[in-house]
Order: sequence, then structure tokens, then C-alpha cells
Amino acid sequence: MTVAAKEPGRQRARAAAPDSFPEPAALLAWFDRHRRVLPWRARSGERPDPYRVWLSEIMLQQTTVRAVVPFYVRFLQRWGDIRALAAAPLEDILKAWAGLGYYARARNLHACVRAVVERHGAEFPASEAALRALPGIGDYTAAAIAAIAFDAPTSPVDGNIERVVARLFAVAAPLPGVKPELRRLARELFPRRRAGDFAQALMDLGATICTPKKPACAFCPLNESCGARARGDAETIPRRAPRREGALRRGAAFVARRMDGYILIGTRPARGLLGGMTGVPTTEWSRDFDEKNALGAAPRFLSLKRKNKNEIHWCRRAGVVRHVFTHFPLELAVYEAEIAPHTPAPKGLRWIAVADIAGEALPSLMRKVVAHGLDQSEITAPPSPRAPSRAARR
Ligand code: SF4
Repeated sequence: MTVAAKEPGRQRARAAAPDSFPEPAALLAWFDRHRRVLPWRARSGERPDPYRVWLSEIMLQQTTVRAVVPFYVRFLQRWGDIRALAAAPLEDILKAWAGLGYYARARNLHACVRAVVERHGAEFPASEAALRALPGIGDYTAAAIAAIAFDAPTSPVDGNIERVVARLFAVAAPLPGVKPELRRLARELFPRRRAGDFAQALMDLGATICTPKKPACAFCPLNESCGARARGDAETIPRRAPRREGALRRGAAFVARRMDGYILIGTRPARGLLGGMTGVPTTEWSRDFDEKNALGAAPRFLSLKRKNKNEIHWCRRAGVVRHVFTHFPLELAVYEAEIAPHTPAPKGLRWIAVADIAGEALPSLMRKVVAHGLDQSEITAPPSPRAPSRAARR
């Protein structure tokens, strides 16, 4: 297929490349032969389904393809179209999402399908602006859906595309400051026709050939016009400014085990970290947490016999549970207590059978806390899908 060129922009960008400007047609021809088969991707000649494209793009945010595939397949089997997903209770969606991480996505997913049903008659809008107005859809996701599902002439830039563009134009300035420049270069590079295929071709190239370590330049359809290859420093690009890790936060968690085989859990507030997810009660997590005051936040039980506050002996487990969120590391001290059978749950909390924990929408931090509190090596959970960065996700 002929690809329309955007010559003025190309003249400007050409200065950064060694011999010639990367030709979209060469990459599209490679894509037509070597495209990856992915469950959300339309086959050659098929029209992409916007619902599937949207669902995959939301799941792929900060998450690897490998981790997403089983979740995506299960979601689609259960909620095959937008109306089915919009009719599902949020609780069911959160349960199905458990283990995929970044749980705000699941809540936004639910809000988004409801908004599409209410505002757009259950059809995803085709314009980037209308897509961006929906919950959970930012600039990149709007551009990706517009390009892939509707073939709009736009240029989504994810981590893989960032890397390929940085190498093609031998951009040595470090991320994240250089992102606007990479987006500008990507706009020069993208053809006006087949923008969705071109985006997916760059993603596939980044995932299979132009990989973060040891790019296989000999097999790359753009190698003749690659600046980093010409300079011999492809592996060092893109460069990154040293990452500043957020300050350590600390807190305590309470694992109350009823002696007839139950554990005390609750639903976290909708807003904030792990919002709306299931977890054991905890203190606040803060930089200046003082463990001396931890038990003041422990759940309080009413005795069945005496109808007054029960004396509970909280036992501090040795060590701490460590977890790293995107913007800060966390350490939780874990307190464990045995509670008399049939004791009612404190207000806002509930008992679940220990045997049913694996089926709860328990985020991985809470699985670690419960395992530590119960002195088990682990609570069964899907493998961690977290990617170290968006750069490695596709
Ligand atoms: S030639 Fe090498 S570094 Fe350049 S885009 Fe292709 S794989 Fe990446």
C-alpha cells in the first residue's frame, strides 16, 4: 500500500538520521509478514473491534503482554461486549482484576463502559478528544485506540515506540525529559494512512527486534536509516536520568484469625492507594509512622458473652512486609491475633473463610500481609504481572 509522506516534517527530522529517513513503507511491509498474533488484535483484512482494542489498551497500561493475555481472555469470555461489562457489578470486575495490579484501572474500566453506554449509545467514539474525555483514557490510550480501532492519522507513543524512535534518531538526551522531543519525532515518522498498523508495527519491532538489551539490528527493516546503529550505541539508548525513589512509608497491618477458620477483612476506601480493594485493616501509611501507636488502630471486637470490648492479645510477627509502589516503598509491621469462634465482625469489616482468601480481590501487598500473619509461605495468587516500566510492556 502506498504511504503518504509528510515531507516538510521529514526534512526537519532528516538531519538526525545518518543516511536516509526511515521509510514507513519498509516497516509496514515487515509488519504484514511478521505481525504478532495477539488475542485482541484483528487479523490482516479484519476490522478491529474498538471494545477489544480499548480493553487490551487499559490492561496493558504498566503491564506486560504475557501477564495480560490470560486476564484479557477471561474478561472477554465473561463480558463479551460493552453492554455486558457495563451491566456487571464493580465488585465482580475487581475480583476478576485481582492480580493484574494498578487497581484504579479496574474502577475506571467500569466507569468508562458506563459512560460509553450513556453518552455514546454503547459505541466507542472515534475521535481522540472524545476518547480522552472518558474515565481512564489518557493521551496515549486515546491515540492508540483512535489509530488502531479507527485508523485515525495520529501517533501513539508507548515505551516500545519511544525506544525505537530514540534509536532511529540517535537521541542521546535522557528520559523522561526528552519525551516531548520523541513525541515530536514520532509525529514526523508516522504515515497518515495505516497509522494503527504503523503503531502496532513499531510496538512489534520494539518487542521482538529492537529490544531494550541486544537489539537484533541485522534483522531490522529500518536498519539502513537508524542513527543509533550507525553510531554503534543502540544498546545505550534511550538513556535515563537517575531515578529518585520516593521516601519510605511505614505502617502496621492486623491479621485477625477467628479460631473457627475465618479471617477479618474489609473493603478499602474507594479513593487512595488500593482503593476499593479488599484488605486486612491497617494503620495509615506514612513517613513518620510511630509503631508505638500502632495498636490504637487495631480492630476492636465486642465480646459475645460480656457485650463489652474484648481483651485481644495482638502478637507482633517478626520482620516486616516490604512492597514497592510506583512512587514509594512501603514497610508494614504485621500484628496477628486469635479471636474466639462466632465473634461478630467490627462495623465495616467482615469475616471470610481462610480457605476462600484466594478467590477474594486481594492485591498482592495484602496477600503478602495475610501470608505473613498466618505464617504461610504464600497465599495463592496469579504471577506478578508488573513490568518494571512501560518500556518493557509490549
Ligand atoms: S537498527 Fe537496531 S537500533 Fe535501530 S531501530 Fe532497528 S533494531 Fe533498533
